[in-house]
Amino acid sequence: MSTNLRSLPSVERLLSATRVRELAEAHSHDAVTGVVRRVLESAREKVKAGEAPPTIDALIDAIVERASRTLAHWPRRVTNATGVVLHTNLGRAPLSKAAVEAAMAVAGGYTDLEMDLATGRRGSRMAHISELLSQTTGAEAGLVVNNNAAALLLGLTAYAQGREVIVSRGEAVEIGGGFRIPDVLQQSGATLVEVGTTNRTYVGDYETAITERTSVLLKVHQSNFAIRGFTHTADLEALARLAKDRGLVVFHDLGSGALLDTTAYGLPKEPMVQESVSQGADLAFFSGDKLLGGPQAGIAVGRRAHVDTLARHPLARAVRVEKVTLAALSATLLSYVRGTATSELPVWRMISMPAAEVRKRAERWKSDLGLAHAEVRESKSTIGGGSLPDETLPTYVLAVRPEVPPERFIARLRSADPPVIARIEADEILFDPRTVLVEEDPLLIEAVRAALTG
Ligand SMILES: *Cc1c(COP(=O)(O)O)cnc(C)c1O
Repeated sequence: MSTNLRSLPSVERLLSATRVRELAEAHSHDAVTGVVRRVLESAREKVKAGEAPPTIDALIDAIVERASRTLAHWPRRVTNATGVVLHTNLGRAPLSKAAVEAAMAVAGGYTDLEMDLATGRRGSRMAHISELLSQTTGAEAGLVVNNNAAALLLGLTAYAQGREVIVSRGEAVEIGGGFRIPDVLQQSGATLVEVGTTNRTYVGDYETAITERTSVLLKVHQSNFAIRGFTHTADLEALARLAKDRGLVVFHDLGSGALLDTTAYGLPKEPMVQESVSQGADLAFFSGDKLLGGPQAGIAVGRRAHVDTLARHPLARAVRVEKVTLAALSATLLSYVRGTATSELPVWRMISMPAAEVRKRAERWKSDLGLAHAEVRESKSTIGGGSLPDETLPTYVLAVRPEVPPERFIARLRSADPPVIARIEADEILFDPRTVLVEEDPLLIEAVRAALTG
Protein backbone atom coordinates (compact mmCIF):
# COMPACT_ATOMS: atom_id res chain seq x y z
CA MET A 1 0.00 0.00 0.00
CA SER A 2 2.76 2.44 0.89
CA THR A 3 4.42 1.68 -2.46
CA ASN A 4 1.19 2.67 -4.20
CA LEU A 5 1.04 5.87 -2.14
CA ARG A 6 4.64 6.63 -3.02
CA SER A 7 3.85 6.18 -6.71
CA LEU A 8 1.65 9.29 -6.60
CA PRO A 9 3.49 12.31 -8.07
CA SER A 10 4.55 15.25 -5.91
CA VAL A 11 2.80 18.63 -5.90
CA GLU A 12 5.85 20.14 -7.67
CA ARG A 13 5.77 17.50 -10.37
CA LEU A 14 2.10 18.21 -11.12
CA LEU A 15 2.63 21.98 -11.00
CA SER A 16 5.33 21.65 -13.66
CA ALA A 17 3.00 19.85 -16.12
CA THR A 18 2.21 22.13 -19.07
CA ARG A 19 -1.57 22.21 -18.63
CA VAL A 20 -1.28 22.90 -14.91
CA ARG A 21 1.33 25.63 -15.52
CA GLU A 22 -1.07 27.26 -17.99
CA LEU A 23 -3.81 27.16 -15.39
CA ALA A 24 -1.56 28.79 -12.79
CA GLU A 25 -0.71 31.56 -15.27
CA ALA A 26 -4.37 32.13 -16.14
CA HIS A 27 -5.61 32.17 -12.53
CA SER A 28 -3.15 32.28 -9.68
CA HIS A 29 -0.24 30.11 -8.68
CA ASP A 30 -1.47 29.79 -5.08
CA ALA A 31 -5.04 28.94 -6.03
CA VAL A 32 -3.92 26.25 -8.48
CA THR A 33 -1.46 24.85 -5.91
CA GLY A 34 -4.42 24.54 -3.54
CA VAL A 35 -6.38 22.64 -6.15
CA VAL A 36 -3.41 20.34 -6.85
CA ARG A 37 -3.10 19.56 -3.12
CA ARG A 38 -6.81 18.78 -2.80
CA VAL A 39 -6.81 16.51 -5.87
CA LEU A 40 -3.73 14.68 -4.55
CA GLU A 41 -5.35 14.37 -1.14
CA SER A 42 -8.45 12.72 -2.54
CA ALA A 43 -6.28 10.42 -4.72
CA ARG A 44 -4.35 9.42 -1.58
CA GLU A 45 -7.61 8.60 0.20
CA LYS A 46 -8.72 6.41 -2.71
CA VAL A 47 -5.40 4.58 -2.85
CA LYS A 48 -5.57 3.98 0.90
CA ALA A 49 -9.04 2.56 0.36
CA GLY A 50 -7.51 0.02 -2.04
CA GLU A 51 -7.95 1.65 -5.45
CA ALA A 52 -5.19 1.58 -8.04
CA PRO A 53 -3.14 4.80 -8.17
CA PRO A 54 -4.34 7.16 -10.95
CA THR A 55 -2.09 8.00 -13.89
CA ILE A 56 -0.48 11.43 -14.11
CA ASP A 57 -2.81 12.28 -17.00
CA ALA A 58 -5.88 11.35 -14.96
CA LEU A 59 -4.64 13.53 -12.09
CA ILE A 60 -4.03 16.46 -14.44
CA ASP A 61 -7.54 16.03 -15.93
CA ALA A 62 -8.96 16.09 -12.43
CA ILE A 63 -6.96 19.24 -11.57
CA VAL A 64 -8.09 21.06 -14.72
CA GLU A 65 -11.70 20.04 -14.14
CA ARG A 66 -11.68 21.02 -10.49
CA ALA A 67 -9.88 24.31 -11.09
CA SER A 68 -12.28 25.31 -13.85
CA ARG A 69 -15.18 24.67 -11.48
CA THR A 70 -13.67 26.23 -8.36
CA LEU A 71 -12.23 29.31 -10.00
CA ALA A 72 -15.29 30.10 -12.13
CA HIS A 73 -18.20 32.32 -11.12
CA TRP A 74 -20.86 30.59 -9.06
CA PRO A 75 -23.85 30.22 -8.81
CA ARG A 76 -24.47 30.06 -12.53
CA ARG A 77 -27.54 31.23 -14.33
CA VAL A 78 -29.58 28.23 -15.58
CA THR A 79 -32.70 27.92 -17.72
CA ASN A 80 -35.61 26.36 -15.81
CA ALA A 81 -37.76 24.30 -18.19
CA THR A 82 -39.16 22.10 -15.39
CA GLY A 83 -42.48 23.93 -15.06
CA VAL A 84 -41.89 24.33 -11.31
CA VAL A 85 -42.27 28.07 -10.77
CA LEU A 86 -40.59 28.33 -7.33
CA HIS A 87 -37.95 25.63 -7.72
CA THR A 88 -36.04 25.59 -4.43
CA ASN A 89 -32.99 23.85 -5.94
CA LEU A 90 -32.89 26.50 -8.64
CA GLY A 91 -32.99 29.42 -6.23
CA ARG A 92 -36.75 30.08 -6.05
CA ALA A 93 -38.04 33.37 -7.49
CA PRO A 94 -36.25 35.04 -10.41
CA LEU A 95 -36.12 38.80 -9.82
CA SER A 96 -37.88 41.41 -11.93
CA LYS A 97 -35.83 43.62 -14.25
CA ALA A 98 -36.38 46.54 -11.90
CA ALA A 99 -35.20 44.50 -8.91
CA VAL A 100 -32.08 43.35 -10.77
CA GLU A 101 -31.28 46.91 -11.79
CA ALA A 102 -31.86 48.22 -8.28
CA ALA A 103 -29.60 45.54 -6.81
CA MET A 104 -26.86 46.17 -9.36
CA ALA A 105 -27.05 49.91 -8.86
CA VAL A 106 -26.12 49.67 -5.18
CA ALA A 107 -23.94 46.55 -5.21
CA GLY A 108 -20.73 48.14 -6.45
CA GLY A 109 -20.73 51.35 -4.44
CA TYR A 110 -21.67 53.03 -1.18
CA THR A 111 -25.30 53.65 -0.27
CA ASP A 112 -27.45 55.63 2.16
CA LEU A 113 -28.31 52.33 3.86
CA GLU A 114 -27.97 53.83 7.34
CA MET A 115 -27.71 57.52 6.65
CA ASP A 116 -30.53 60.03 6.46
CA LEU A 117 -29.50 62.14 3.46
CA ALA A 118 -31.72 65.03 4.57
CA THR A 119 -29.89 65.51 7.87
CA GLY A 120 -26.62 63.66 7.28
CA ARG A 121 -27.24 61.78 10.50
CA ARG A 122 -27.55 58.10 11.16
CA GLY A 123 -30.69 56.60 9.62
CA SER A 124 -32.43 53.26 9.97
CA ARG A 125 -31.90 50.53 7.40
CA MET A 126 -35.51 49.45 7.95
CA ALA A 127 -37.42 52.75 7.73
CA HIS A 128 -37.93 52.80 3.98
CA ILE A 129 -38.79 49.12 3.58
CA SER A 130 -41.13 49.28 6.59
CA GLU A 131 -43.04 52.06 4.86
CA LEU A 132 -43.38 49.97 1.67
CA LEU A 133 -44.48 46.95 3.68
CA SER A 134 -47.17 49.10 5.31
CA GLN A 135 -48.34 50.31 1.92
CA THR A 136 -48.58 46.83 0.48
CA THR A 137 -49.90 44.83 3.46
CA GLY A 138 -51.87 47.35 5.52
CA ALA A 139 -49.73 46.60 8.59
CA GLU A 140 -48.40 49.37 10.81
CA ALA A 141 -44.78 48.39 10.23
CA GLY A 142 -42.49 45.69 8.90
CA LEU A 143 -39.03 44.23 9.35
CA VAL A 144 -36.81 42.26 6.97
CA VAL A 145 -34.30 39.59 7.95
CA ASN A 146 -32.38 36.83 6.19
CA ASN A 147 -35.25 34.41 5.55
CA ASN A 148 -38.58 33.40 7.00
CA ALA A 149 -37.03 30.73 9.23
CA ALA A 150 -34.86 33.47 10.78
CA ALA A 151 -37.85 35.81 11.11
CA LEU A 152 -39.80 33.16 13.02
CA LEU A 153 -36.82 32.29 15.19
CA LEU A 154 -36.40 35.98 15.99
CA GLY A 155 -40.10 36.44 16.76
CA LEU A 156 -40.32 33.39 18.98
CA THR A 157 -37.07 34.16 20.77
CA ALA A 158 -38.17 37.72 21.48
CA TYR A 159 -41.64 36.75 22.70
CA ALA A 160 -41.53 33.20 23.97
CA GLN A 161 -38.11 32.34 25.39
CA GLY A 162 -38.80 30.40 28.57
CA ARG A 163 -42.54 30.59 27.88
CA GLU A 164 -45.15 28.42 26.17
CA VAL A 165 -46.31 28.64 22.56
CA ILE A 166 -49.59 26.99 21.59
CA VAL A 167 -49.71 25.36 18.15
CA SER A 168 -52.32 23.15 16.54
CA ARG A 169 -51.18 19.54 16.18
CA GLY A 170 -51.94 19.78 12.47
CA GLU A 171 -49.65 22.78 12.12
CA ALA A 172 -46.53 21.59 13.97
CA VAL A 173 -45.15 20.74 10.56
CA GLU A 174 -41.90 20.25 8.67
CA ILE A 175 -41.62 22.87 5.96
CA GLY A 176 -38.79 21.19 4.06
CA GLY A 177 -35.01 21.14 4.17
CA GLY A 178 -35.24 19.90 7.76
CA PHE A 179 -37.06 23.03 8.92
CA ARG A 180 -39.57 21.91 11.53
CA ILE A 181 -41.79 24.18 13.57
CA PRO A 182 -41.12 22.19 16.80
CA ASP A 183 -37.35 22.53 16.26
CA VAL A 184 -37.55 26.28 15.69
CA LEU A 185 -39.57 26.58 18.86
CA GLN A 186 -36.98 24.59 20.75
CA GLN A 187 -34.16 26.72 19.33
CA SER A 188 -35.96 29.84 20.51
CA GLY A 189 -36.11 28.46 24.03
CA ALA A 190 -39.90 28.20 23.96
CA THR A 191 -41.97 25.21 24.99
CA LEU A 192 -44.30 23.83 22.38
CA VAL A 193 -47.80 23.06 23.56
CA GLU A 194 -49.66 21.09 20.90
CA VAL A 195 -53.43 21.24 20.89
CA GLY A 196 -56.25 19.63 18.93
CA THR A 197 -55.78 16.66 16.63
CA THR A 198 -54.01 16.35 13.31
CA ASN A 199 -57.18 17.08 11.36
CA ARG A 200 -59.33 19.18 13.69
CA THR A 201 -58.44 22.01 16.03
CA TYR A 202 -60.86 24.56 17.53
CA VAL A 203 -60.36 27.89 19.26
CA GLY A 204 -61.53 26.19 22.44
CA ASP A 205 -58.51 23.86 22.25
CA TYR A 206 -56.18 26.86 22.40
CA GLU A 207 -58.21 28.44 25.18
CA THR A 208 -58.05 25.35 27.38
CA ALA A 209 -54.29 25.12 26.95
CA ILE A 210 -53.54 28.69 28.04
CA THR A 211 -51.58 28.88 31.30
CA GLU A 212 -49.74 31.70 33.06
CA ARG A 213 -46.65 30.64 31.09
CA THR A 214 -48.28 31.05 27.67
CA SER A 215 -47.04 33.96 25.56
CA VAL A 216 -47.85 33.22 21.90
CA LEU A 217 -50.61 31.54 19.91
CA LEU A 218 -48.87 30.41 16.72
CA LYS A 219 -50.79 29.68 13.55
CA VAL A 220 -48.82 28.05 10.74
CA HIS A 221 -50.00 27.82 7.16
CA GLN A 222 -49.77 24.18 6.03
CA SER A 223 -47.93 25.30 2.96
CA ASN A 224 -46.49 22.10 1.57
CA PHE A 225 -49.24 19.57 2.16
CA ALA A 226 -53.00 19.48 2.32
CA ILE A 227 -55.33 17.64 4.64
CA ARG A 228 -58.69 16.95 3.05
CA GLY A 229 -61.99 15.67 4.31
CA PHE A 230 -63.04 15.92 7.96
CA THR A 231 -60.98 18.95 8.96
CA HIS A 232 -61.23 22.11 10.98
CA THR A 233 -58.75 24.83 11.85
CA ALA A 234 -59.32 27.72 14.20
CA ASP A 235 -59.75 30.92 12.27
CA LEU A 236 -57.31 33.70 12.77
CA GLU A 237 -59.89 36.30 13.78
CA ALA A 238 -61.15 34.13 16.62
CA LEU A 239 -57.59 33.40 17.75
CA ALA A 240 -56.78 37.12 17.66
CA ARG A 241 -59.81 37.88 19.85
CA LEU A 242 -58.81 35.17 22.30
CA ALA A 243 -55.23 36.43 22.43
CA LYS A 244 -56.35 39.98 23.03
CA ASP A 245 -58.67 38.91 25.87
CA ARG A 246 -55.89 37.01 27.57
CA GLY A 247 -53.04 39.45 27.00
CA LEU A 248 -51.22 37.17 24.52
CA VAL A 249 -50.03 37.67 20.95
CA VAL A 250 -50.90 35.78 17.77
CA PHE A 251 -48.15 34.99 15.29
CA HIS A 252 -49.14 33.84 11.83
CA ASP A 253 -46.54 32.01 9.72
CA LEU A 254 -47.88 32.42 6.20
CA GLY A 255 -44.96 30.80 4.40
CA SER A 256 -45.36 32.21 0.95
CA GLY A 257 -46.50 35.76 1.50
CA ALA A 258 -48.96 36.14 -1.35
CA LEU A 259 -49.94 39.76 -1.90
CA LEU A 260 -52.11 38.85 -4.89
CA ASP A 261 -55.13 36.57 -4.95
CA THR A 262 -54.14 33.19 -6.39
CA THR A 263 -57.76 32.29 -7.18
CA ALA A 264 -57.69 34.85 -10.01
CA TYR A 265 -55.42 32.40 -11.88
CA GLY A 266 -57.37 29.21 -11.39
CA LEU A 267 -55.41 28.24 -8.29
CA PRO A 268 -56.87 27.54 -4.85
CA LYS A 269 -56.75 30.24 -2.23
CA GLU A 270 -53.32 30.92 -0.76
CA PRO A 271 -53.70 33.06 2.38
CA MET A 272 -52.77 36.68 1.68
CA VAL A 273 -50.65 38.87 3.92
CA GLN A 274 -53.23 41.67 3.85
CA GLU A 275 -55.89 39.29 5.20
CA SER A 276 -53.62 38.04 7.95
CA VAL A 277 -53.06 41.65 9.02
CA SER A 278 -56.72 42.66 8.82
CA GLN A 279 -57.83 39.53 10.67
CA GLY A 280 -55.69 40.58 13.59
CA ALA A 281 -52.36 38.74 13.50
CA ASP A 282 -50.03 40.68 15.79
CA LEU A 283 -47.19 39.61 13.55
CA ALA A 284 -47.39 37.85 10.16
CA PHE A 285 -44.26 36.11 8.86
CA PHE A 286 -43.45 35.26 5.25
CA SER A 287 -40.65 34.70 2.72
CA GLY A 288 -39.43 37.24 0.20
CA ASP A 289 -38.63 34.69 -2.48
CA LYS A 290 -41.78 32.58 -2.69
CA LEU A 291 -45.01 34.05 -4.09
CA LEU A 292 -43.85 37.55 -3.22
CA GLY A 293 -41.45 37.11 -6.13
CA GLY A 294 -38.44 38.90 -4.65
CA PRO A 295 -35.03 38.11 -3.16
CA GLN A 296 -34.43 35.64 -0.33
CA ALA A 297 -35.67 37.37 2.80
CA GLY A 298 -37.86 36.83 5.82
CA ILE A 299 -40.46 39.47 6.49
CA ALA A 300 -42.44 40.19 9.63
CA VAL A 301 -45.27 42.71 9.47
CA GLY A 302 -47.76 43.78 12.10
CA ARG A 303 -48.17 46.17 14.99
CA ARG A 304 -45.39 48.73 15.27
CA ALA A 305 -44.65 47.95 18.91
CA HIS A 306 -44.06 44.27 18.06
CA VAL A 307 -41.96 45.05 14.99
CA ASP A 308 -39.84 47.38 17.15
CA THR A 309 -39.42 44.68 19.79
CA LEU A 310 -38.07 42.32 17.12
CA ALA A 311 -35.84 45.01 15.61
CA ARG A 312 -34.28 45.79 19.01
CA HIS A 313 -33.63 42.16 19.94
CA PRO A 314 -29.90 41.20 19.81
CA LEU A 315 -30.71 38.28 17.49
CA ALA A 316 -31.95 40.76 14.86
CA ARG A 317 -28.32 41.81 14.30
CA ALA A 318 -27.34 38.21 13.57
CA VAL A 319 -29.99 37.73 10.88
CA ARG A 320 -30.02 41.16 9.26
CA VAL A 321 -30.02 41.71 5.51
CA GLU A 322 -27.67 43.66 3.32
CA LYS A 323 -28.11 46.50 0.85
CA VAL A 324 -28.42 44.33 -2.26
CA THR A 325 -31.32 42.36 -0.78
CA LEU A 326 -33.04 45.50 0.45
CA ALA A 327 -32.68 47.19 -2.93
CA ALA A 328 -34.16 44.17 -4.76
CA LEU A 329 -36.96 43.80 -2.22
CA SER A 330 -37.80 47.46 -2.34
CA ALA A 331 -38.04 47.36 -6.16
CA THR A 332 -40.20 44.22 -5.93
CA LEU A 333 -42.59 45.87 -3.47
CA LEU A 334 -42.80 48.95 -5.69
CA SER A 335 -44.28 46.74 -8.43
CA TYR A 336 -47.13 45.94 -6.03
CA VAL A 337 -47.50 49.59 -5.02
CA ARG A 338 -47.84 50.55 -8.70
CA GLY A 339 -50.24 47.67 -9.34
CA THR A 340 -47.94 46.22 -12.00
CA ALA A 341 -46.82 43.04 -10.21
CA THR A 342 -48.41 40.57 -12.63
CA SER A 343 -46.72 42.13 -15.63
CA GLU A 344 -43.35 42.88 -13.97
CA LEU A 345 -42.60 40.05 -11.54
CA PRO A 346 -41.49 36.86 -13.31
CA VAL A 347 -43.23 34.59 -10.78
CA TRP A 348 -46.60 36.24 -11.41
CA ARG A 349 -46.03 36.51 -15.15
CA MET A 350 -45.47 32.75 -15.18
CA ILE A 351 -48.49 32.00 -13.00
CA SER A 352 -50.76 34.26 -15.01
CA MET A 353 -49.58 33.13 -18.45
CA PRO A 354 -52.59 31.56 -20.21
CA ALA A 355 -52.12 27.94 -21.34
CA ALA A 356 -52.79 29.00 -24.93
CA GLU A 357 -49.78 31.30 -24.83
CA VAL A 358 -47.59 28.58 -23.33
CA ARG A 359 -48.77 26.30 -26.13
CA LYS A 360 -47.77 28.81 -28.79
CA ARG A 361 -44.26 28.99 -27.39
CA ALA A 362 -43.97 25.19 -27.26
CA GLU A 363 -45.13 25.02 -30.90
CA ARG A 364 -42.57 27.65 -31.85
CA TRP A 365 -39.80 25.68 -30.08
CA LYS A 366 -40.85 22.59 -31.99
CA SER A 367 -40.73 24.30 -35.36
CA ASP A 368 -37.45 26.11 -34.54
CA LEU A 369 -35.92 22.76 -33.69
CA GLY A 370 -37.40 21.16 -36.81
CA LEU A 371 -38.23 18.07 -34.81
CA ALA A 372 -40.65 15.71 -36.50
CA HIS A 373 -40.66 13.25 -33.58
CA ALA A 374 -41.33 15.83 -30.86
CA GLU A 375 -44.82 16.53 -29.66
CA VAL A 376 -46.56 19.48 -28.03
CA ARG A 377 -49.03 18.23 -25.47
CA GLU A 378 -51.00 19.17 -22.39
CA SER A 379 -49.31 18.82 -19.03
CA LYS A 380 -49.15 20.43 -15.59
CA SER A 381 -46.92 23.15 -14.17
CA THR A 382 -46.56 23.35 -10.38
CA ILE A 383 -45.95 26.26 -8.04
CA GLY A 384 -43.35 24.55 -5.82
CA GLY A 385 -41.27 26.21 -3.11
CA GLY A 386 -43.59 24.81 -0.47
CA SER A 387 -46.53 26.78 -1.84
CA LEU A 388 -49.89 25.42 -2.97
CA PRO A 389 -49.32 21.68 -2.49
CA ASP A 390 -50.56 19.37 -5.29
CA GLU A 391 -51.93 22.38 -7.07
CA THR A 392 -51.13 22.64 -10.72
CA LEU A 393 -51.62 24.98 -13.60
CA PRO A 394 -52.68 23.57 -16.97
CA THR A 395 -49.76 23.96 -19.35
CA TYR A 396 -48.30 22.66 -22.61
CA VAL A 397 -44.90 21.03 -22.89
CA LEU A 398 -42.64 20.10 -25.75
CA ALA A 399 -42.00 16.36 -25.35
CA VAL A 400 -38.83 15.08 -26.98
CA ARG A 401 -37.97 11.39 -27.26
CA PRO A 402 -34.18 11.34 -27.57
CA GLU A 403 -32.19 8.61 -29.33
CA VAL A 404 -29.84 8.30 -26.37
CA PRO A 405 -31.05 7.25 -22.90
CA PRO A 406 -33.04 10.13 -21.34
CA GLU A 407 -30.67 10.39 -18.36
CA ARG A 408 -27.79 10.96 -20.75
CA PHE A 409 -29.75 13.51 -22.76
CA ILE A 410 -30.73 15.46 -19.67
CA ALA A 411 -27.10 15.41 -18.49
CA ARG A 412 -26.07 16.94 -21.84
CA LEU A 413 -28.66 19.67 -21.30
CA ARG A 414 -27.18 20.35 -17.87
CA SER A 415 -23.73 20.76 -19.38
CA ALA A 416 -24.93 23.39 -21.88
CA ASP A 417 -23.98 27.03 -21.34
CA PRO A 418 -26.21 28.15 -19.73
CA PRO A 419 -27.39 24.77 -18.43
CA VAL A 420 -30.99 23.78 -19.22
CA ILE A 421 -32.94 21.92 -16.53
CA ALA A 422 -35.84 19.84 -17.84
CA ARG A 423 -37.77 16.86 -16.55
CA ILE A 424 -38.04 13.22 -17.59
CA GLU A 425 -41.38 11.48 -17.83
CA ALA A 426 -41.76 7.99 -19.29
CA ASP A 427 -38.51 8.10 -21.34
CA GLU A 428 -39.31 11.52 -22.72
CA ILE A 429 -37.80 14.89 -21.92
CA LEU A 430 -40.45 17.50 -21.19
CA PHE A 431 -39.78 21.21 -21.67
CA ASP A 432 -42.34 23.55 -20.07
CA PRO A 433 -42.20 27.07 -21.54
CA ARG A 434 -44.09 28.52 -18.56
CA THR A 435 -40.96 28.77 -16.38
CA VAL A 436 -38.59 29.74 -19.19
CA LEU A 437 -38.16 33.50 -19.40
CA VAL A 438 -39.03 34.67 -22.91
CA GLU A 439 -35.54 36.09 -23.47
CA GLU A 440 -34.10 32.62 -22.71
CA ASP A 441 -35.89 30.95 -25.65
CA PRO A 442 -32.99 31.18 -28.15
CA LEU A 443 -30.51 29.76 -25.59
CA LEU A 444 -32.83 26.87 -24.80
CA ILE A 445 -33.26 26.05 -28.51
CA GLU A 446 -29.50 26.11 -28.98
CA ALA A 447 -28.91 23.84 -25.97
CA VAL A 448 -31.53 21.31 -27.09
CA ARG A 449 -30.15 21.30 -30.63
CA ALA A 450 -26.63 20.66 -29.31
CA ALA A 451 -27.87 17.88 -27.02
CA LEU A 452 -29.69 16.20 -29.94
CA THR A 453 -26.56 16.08 -32.06
CA GLY A 454 -24.49 14.90 -29.09
C1 LIG B 1 -41.11 28.14 3.35
C2 LIG B 1 -41.69 28.29 4.70
C3 LIG B 1 -40.90 28.70 5.79
C4 LIG B 1 -39.43 28.96 5.64
O1 LIG B 1 -39.21 30.12 4.88
P1 LIG B 1 -37.73 30.44 4.34
O2 LIG B 1 -37.85 31.82 3.77
O3 LIG B 1 -37.42 29.40 3.34
O4 LIG B 1 -36.83 30.39 5.52
C5 LIG B 1 -41.50 28.81 7.02
N1 LIG B 1 -42.81 28.55 7.19
C6 LIG B 1 -43.61 28.16 6.17
C7 LIG B 1 -45.05 27.86 6.44
C8 LIG B 1 -43.07 28.01 4.88
O5 LIG B 1 -43.85 27.61 3.87
